[in-house]
Amino acid sequence: MTETKADTIRCDACPVLCRIRPGKIGACDRYANADGVLTRVDPLVVAERARHMVPFLEGSEGWEGEVVTPAESFVTGIGSGTTYPDYKPAPFIVASEAEGVDMVTVVSEGIFSYCGLKVKIDTDRYLGPEQAAVMCEGEQIGHVTTAEYGSQMLALGGVRHLTGGSKREGNVTCQAMLDLCGCRAVEIRIEGGAKVVIQAGAPPIVDDEREERMRVGCGSATIGMFAKQWYGLTDEVIVVDDHITGVLTEHQAGRFLDMPPAGVRVRGRRSTPGRYFQVAEPGAGWGGTDVTDPLEIIEKIDPKKAWPGMRLLMVSTTGEDAAWYELDEGLDPREAEMPDPIWKVVERIAENCEPALTSVLFMAGAGGSLRAGVTENPVKLTRSVRESLTRVTCGGAPVYVWPGGGITLMVDVTRMPGSSFGYVPTPALVAPIEFTMRREDYATLGGHVDSIVALESVLGGAHLERMPWPTSNPWPIGPATGRPS
Ligand code: SF4
Repeated sequence: MTETKADTIRCDACPVLCRIRPGKIGACDRYANADGVLTRVDPLVVAERARHMVPFLEGSEGWEGEVVTPAESFVTGIGSGTTYPDYKPAPFIVASEAEGVDMVTVVSEGIFSYCGLKVKIDTDRYLGPEQAAVMCEGEQIGHVTTAEYGSQMLALGGVRHLTGGSKREGNVTCQAMLDLCGCRAVEIRIEGGAKVVIQAGAPPIVDDEREERMRVGCGSATIGMFAKQWYGLTDEVIVVDDHITGVLTEHQAGRFLDMPPAGVRVRGRRSTPGRYFQVAEPGAGWGGTDVTDPLEIIEKIDPKKAWPGMRLLMVSTTGEDAAWYELDEGLDPREAEMPDPIWKVVERIAENCEPALTSVLFMAGAGGSLRAGVTENPVKLTRSVRESLTRVTCGGAPVYVWPGGGITLMVDVTRMPGSSFGYVPTPALVAPIEFTMRREDYATLGGHVDSIVALESVLGGAHLERMPWPTSNPWPIGPATGRPS
């Protein structure tokens, strides 16, 4: 903090360097001038979990299983403040003890100009071509990237959109990322594709239709999974899928069951027996294709193999679309009422689909300068993380650290407390980050040991918010962090 004239103070917690008048807050709403003191507006979040249950001891009559030891506390980076301009130690370097081992957690909020989101949208519906621009409020905030199994993927944010375009592009990108990281809904449009509402942990809404199910597998996998259940009930099954359409009697699964070839040839490029690529264009129809009448994908029916009365099921990879046909005397498929046993297998496909969700991973580099808040020799922190001596968390949530250089991490935003993310108008996102290690390892990597404070002193401070530890997250403090003893 720098004092300026007439009780106005200058915030130096980010490069914006706001001048904040008494009683006012800075541009990011995170810092205020409280009686001339630069004050972090949000409380420091401390997550608490009950200690292990005390084992039943002889003579402890009357004990009914209640927890009788105080809770363990983990100081998160949420509300902690930043190290900017980074030559100073992190806001909190907290000593604690776990199972007789002295531990240290370095707690900070990182300002991430280099950060992005990986968004996984569980749907087969066509959202747009790979590499297409993802637009929000008329600005490009990212692009469509490689689809994964049953999901469409987006890459959003990143330095290219945060700082490399116009000021408005940066601000819109930052706001969209902030909303997504806070598990709020954001409407996007994909050039040449769909309008999609995405929200971490919620089903995607594609062109105003809420997606219900993630496909059970590709068409080929669906054939393999359910072939035996169809055996004897039908003469052919075609599972319509934008990626791999499966044809039962040609497929290895049908051959394994000694099913005679039914002679139905589907459009597209045959990859291997019973597996066809590109049977139609991608779209919002059956199995992520643009097909609304499944018979469109039948190229021909071989009269030498097919026969009148032959039974044919056509179904999508989610079981949402299904039709039953019988061939007439001219070998033309005629739609007929689906027999109950066939319905049951179609319903089994649907039952095996998982609920469609949108998942948002925050990805950032805990890079150059942020590490200086931990140690005077930043590369040693990187090495310590690489050697699993230091555990990295974001708001207490576990992260995945990419191999290779730097500390490039990914974290599921739904595992982080709701108040985790903020922003600064550079623009960049602010996110909590904690580094936990043995105290001896902290000293070895050149840590700011003179700045270590006792956990109790942090807990005794004002402006704390205590929250229960999310049981789905592993407890980050303990001798498991670091080399085996
Ligand atoms: S934007 Fe926020 S963190 Fe940056 S200088 Fe202003 S008040 Fe401080």
